[in-house]
Amino acid sequence: MVKLEDYRDIVGDEIIYSIYRKMRRLYDKHVLHINSTYIGGGVAEILSSLVPLMNYVGIEAGWRTLHGSVDFYGITKKIHNALQGDKINFSDIKKQLYVQINELFSTYTHINTHDFVIIHDPQPLPIIQFFRKSQPWIWRCHIDLSSPNKEVWEYLKKFILKYDIVIFSTEKYKSPDLPLQYKIISPAIDPLSHKNKEIPDSLIFKHLKKFGVPLDKPFITQISRFDKWKDPLGVIEVFKRIKEKVDCRLVMCGNMATDDPEGFEIFDKITKKAQRFIENNEIILITAENNILVNALQRKSAVVIQKSLREGFGLTVTEALWKKTPVVASNVGGIPLQIQDGESGFLLEPDDEEGFAERTVELLKNPSLAKEMGKKGKENVRKKFLTTRMLSDYLDLLSVISL
Ligand code: UDP
Repeated sequence: MVKLEDYRDIVGDEIIYSIYRKMRRLYDKHVLHINSTYIGGGVAEILSSLVPLMNYVGIEAGWRTLHGSVDFYGITKKIHNALQGDKINFSDIKKQLYVQINELFSTYTHINTHDFVIIHDPQPLPIIQFFRKSQPWIWRCHIDLSSPNKEVWEYLKKFILKYDIVIFSTEKYKSPDLPLQYKIISPAIDPLSHKNKEIPDSLIFKHLKKFGVPLDKPFITQISRFDKWKDPLGVIEVFKRIKEKVDCRLVMCGNMATDDPEGFEIFDKITKKAQRFIENNEIILITAENNILVNALQRKSAVVIQKSLREGFGLTVTEALWKKTPVVASNVGGIPLQIQDGESGFLLEPDDEEGFAERTVELLKNPSLAKEMGKKGKENVRKKFLTTRMLSDYLDLLSVISL
């Protein structure tokens, strides 16, 4: 089990002391996190490092996942998409099912002695109305809220307003029409997890071989759930352009979150569009759920691409930067918090396929530029986007919030 002290060599003593100082008012406080998946996607990734660390430092922290149905996740994915700007046919039946599943979950979820309840994202948002609230409730939104669909936002607001405070990943998601206290806590990665820790080359090569990634040519990678917002089809277009200039491969590594029913459909579209490249072993499509593999890919990629159309924060960017791998990414959501354009990576408009290709080619042809950018990217992550800083922000919040 990871201990807070294990992070000393990475983050320095000051942050460790300050976490224990902040804990003085919080020992034995009981915190409950609820989200809707234990695997796949950034929220599960964050909770799997944050919750054990909270426990280690002396908070009694628990993590429960809402039990949805296929229809429920179909609806909540539509809500997610609408919050990121899509249209939606939001019928009364859909609204009813959304609330009913939350009500059902509340019947076997005991919330009583907890000092704080933290609800992640829209799936379990309505659960608040099925409890008599005797502690602060926090809604932690991980979604890109830069242009939410108004109808859905107005509907969700009636639940959000019951909360005591909202957490967003970046200041720009704060909505002027939400008269609630809010705090900005940007997500973070765990530098000691299997996904991010240093691993020996022998393990890297073993995993790349096992998952069919040859090393005779450089490869570029996008690692993302199979989700239209990650624009996997656009990534293939970018790769076509890159291939005209540099002989390389593209690895697309994706997984399915249990609360995201659109993954299979998107996966099909990718396999159709990339068929010729897949047959020639120029595009390697991987669907394994394997943290060491993700670690290995992020370490050995010549460039990591993140061509998202929307992005709540983009942990895949943080993870690649932490491994000193240069990143070419869309200037959306939380990504510009992580990359200074031209310094620690390149930022482009999401539809600028030519720009993505040019910048990637530039990095493929200029390894010293790639190295320099990777180095700067890592330092920025060390200062701002490691799990110790996120824990510290949560402790600040829990220390001041009361009913
Ligand atoms: N991820 C993974 N395997 C995959 C695809 C993604 O482990 O095949 C992980 C990725 O490493 C990151 C998380 O899923 O930790 C995705 O978080 P991000 O914030 O980038 O996007 P989200 O899925 O939350 O929209």
